[in-house]
Amino acid sequence: MKMIKAKNKEFENAKILVENKVLELRRKTPNIKFPHDKVAELEINKFFYNHKTIDRVMVVLRANGCEHYKKTGGCSMCSHFNGTDRNGQITTEDYKKQWDSVVSGNNIEQGKKFNINDFPVVCVYNLGSLLNEKEISCEAVRYIFGSLNKCSGVQKIIIESRAEYVTENSVSNMKSVYNNGIVEVGIGIESTNNVIREICHHKGLENFSLVKNAIEILHKYNFKALAYVNFKPIFLTEQEAIDDAIKTTIDCFEMGFDAVSIEPTSLQNYSLANHLYQIGQYRVPWLWSVRDVVQGVYNKIKNKELDIRLGGYFDEDVLSGSQGVGYENRNEIFPTITSLNCDKCSNKFIECIKNFNMTYDLQTLYDIENCDKCYKIWEDVKKVKDSRSIFKRVKDILSD
Ligand code: SF4
Ligand SMILES: [Zn+2]
Repeated sequence: MKMIKAKNKEFENAKILVENKVLELRRKTPNIKFPHDKVAELEINKFFYNHKTIDRVMVVLRANGCEHYKKTGGCSMCSHFNGTDRNGQITTEDYKKQWDSVVSGNNIEQGKKFNINDFPVVCVYNLGSLLNEKEISCEAVRYIFGSLNKCSGVQKIIIESRAEYVTENSVSNMKSVYNNGIVEVGIGIESTNNVIREICHHKGLENFSLVKNAIEILHKYNFKALAYVNFKPIFLTEQEAIDDAIKTTIDCFEMGFDAVSIEPTSLQNYSLANHLYQIGQYRVPWLWSVRDVVQGVYNKIKNKELDIRLGGYFDEDVLSGSQGVGYENRNEIFPTITSLNCDKCSNKFIECIKNFNMTYDLQTLYDIENCDKCYKIWEDVKKVKDSRSIFKRVKDILSD
């Protein structure tokens, strides 16, 4: 009993240290004014769907922001907060105007012709949870889904939500106006290890039964459940991170998720992961390690039909948004650093990952020779061990 109490205390102390630091960084984040009637981003990227490579549309609404930020500062690796407008509420009418601008194709900065009905898969993101009424009203969600229901060319819609907002009410709200295709809801799981998820990711999802509940509700409505697994949170060694991502991905499939998107950590300004990188206490994952994770999952699950994606690496074409066409201006949600190897082989490896996302063929991740500049270094990095508990690491790094 005593031991359990001591452990809980360590857990709580570590959580407080992480939370205080995240909140401190959020307070430093510049408060930018954004137009409320324009989406944050509209892009087209290559995606694997129904056994072939297709073009999918990704719409990022300018939104009110994730409630988890407002309550606790949010997750340690995420800074979508930077792209939300804190100068007043984005209203239902604003969301409708943003959506109309996508459907009309009037806001395409590249001057290209755009018709949403040409794309079989459409992602609608809101820098938070599309199923949280406090972030976007049920009426705005119905407006968007009702409009998509008229697009016979659109077969699948992908949205994101934290698990607690996947409820009978929120799902039936979508279903009441959308019956033309599949809806897939991406839920941030990050890790099925409680300490890693709550301390390293600062996820705020201690009640894991919410996840099982969300999967059940989605399946009841014939919707799909997608798990996001963050690969290499702060405070873990490279090998610990690989092992955790493999185990979490397998756990997610076993729990009933239809697909898993493995998200190698990238760095956005003002995130805690970025801060630790700046003080020399964190490195983004190696791309070689990303391959280890996917291979590790396939070694344990023999089913070759797994729907595994590698988040953040799609061949993309930005049509409009504040990062500028062709990224001439890096915007507030754009990662400044993504997973990498060395300057000699990173770009080639990223091409392999993009090909994986277009084919789901594991072999594409081996279409690269072992790099003479960095492969050996990476192998040595994987041997680095840290005998301290995660709580101790947090204390050592974050205590003043
Ligand atoms: S990862 Fe998702 S839940 Fe976490 S802070 Fe970002 S938007 Fe919110
Ligand atoms: Zn290299």
